Amino acid sequence: MNISNSEQLHKQAQQHIVGGVNSPSRAYKGVGGGTPIYMERGQGAYFWDVDGNKYIDFLAAYGPIITGHAHPHITEAITKAAHNGVLYGTPTALENKFAKMLKDAIPSLEKVRFVNSGTEAVMTTIRVARAYTKRNKIIKFAGCYHGHSDPVLVQAGSGPATLGTPDSAGVPQAIAQDVITVPFNDIDAYKEAISQWGDEVAAVLVEPIVGNFGIVEPKPGFLEQVNELTHGAGALVIYDEVITAFRFTYGSAQQILNIEPDMTAMGKIIGGGLPIGAYGGRKDIMEQVAPLGPAYQAGTMAGNPASMSAGIACLEVLNQEGVYQRMDRLGAKLEQGILAYAREYGLPVTINRLIGALTVYFSEREVENYQDAENTDGEMFAKFFKLILQEGINLAPSKYEAWFLTTEHSEADIDQTLDAVKKAFAAMSQQ
Ligand code: PMP
Repeated sequence: MNISNSEQLHKQAQQHIVGGVNSPSRAYKGVGGGTPIYMERGQGAYFWDVDGNKYIDFLAAYGPIITGHAHPHITEAITKAAHNGVLYGTPTALENKFAKMLKDAIPSLEKVRFVNSGTEAVMTTIRVARAYTKRNKIIKFAGCYHGHSDPVLVQAGSGPATLGTPDSAGVPQAIAQDVITVPFNDIDAYKEAISQWGDEVAAVLVEPIVGNFGIVEPKPGFLEQVNELTHGAGALVIYDEVITAFRFTYGSAQQILNIEPDMTAMGKIIGGGLPIGAYGGRKDIMEQVAPLGPAYQAGTMAGNPASMSAGIACLEVLNQEGVYQRMDRLGAKLEQGILAYAREYGLPVTINRLIGALTVYFSEREVENYQDAENTDGEMFAKFFKLILQEGINLAPSKYEAWFLTTEHSEADIDQTLDAVKKAFAAMSQQ
């Protein structure tokens, strides 16, 4: 495959943009480096790069593009918004309409606020929880990414429940000290954290279905116990549904799991591909936020007409009959096909899938937490990624990410993808 134009652009990019990219994972670090493919055009389930190569896209921009690229309904909504002026700095009726749509789809949202990214949404839920509880510590689960605000760029030290150390230069130790990290799906570790620090904890931050070390579902009863222990300690439960809201159903993971948090952070899909974040939850907690309460949060771009229009249009597409069933059916076909070829070529593959999101781990063991995901074979994944890219299949360049189906993937796309997987596995089995 000729990628000379991508190579050329990447040389230029490195002169102007730090690391040549505007988000680090795009630099292919997770697969041992290489030239990132520069895309020029997306349509439905496909991408075309600057060298004219066509790809079937399962990256979906790390989640938001659930209706495929340039979906006509969303494109029309964005075009209309552009003609009417994209930013006013005043309230608009679109914000009311969209807030109501979110509330109708996710009942735990008594009040919402729009922001511009998942990072902002999560960051603000933490501030609001701290304001409400008048406590400082937060608990999070190892390996869960919650954006790049200071308190969530903290990883576990050693031991089942540990106070954090900064995961990034520039995050003060003083902030990391207020973050406790425990393994996901390990209720004993969670109990230990609550018994040790419970009366100082403002909130626990949970990806109710994990998307950031692959798709990992909670063990039965895990989230129920987390809720009970957290509330017992007088702390709040925050769900980070930046990936999961509208990914598996018209609504959120909390409905699938039949459990409610006190607050929810959202992003990605709800913007229909434009920048967005939102957070919401119990009315008495949300009323901590300015102008009603003492917790400050604002935004020049927050609730802008373009993002609102794209988000509304995206949810309208997702609210049609059979959308998620179709993604589930194609997801199952993809999963079964990959597993069959893995068996045929004697490769160790485990797949975690829910509806149209799946992670292919090179491992014989099941993946239930971050440690399990870390133990899967990254070198094998890197080989697979590069081989399948050559065949025109665009995945996220990391063993920790999911493949995302869209409403636009067809049966034929899945067949073509499985042919590419077969070729890649055949090559890997010879090495
Ligand atoms: N939370 C989760 C669960 C995420 O996956 C992400 C982004 N991958 C974020 C928060 C941050 O969102 P954003 O990149 O829009 O700031």
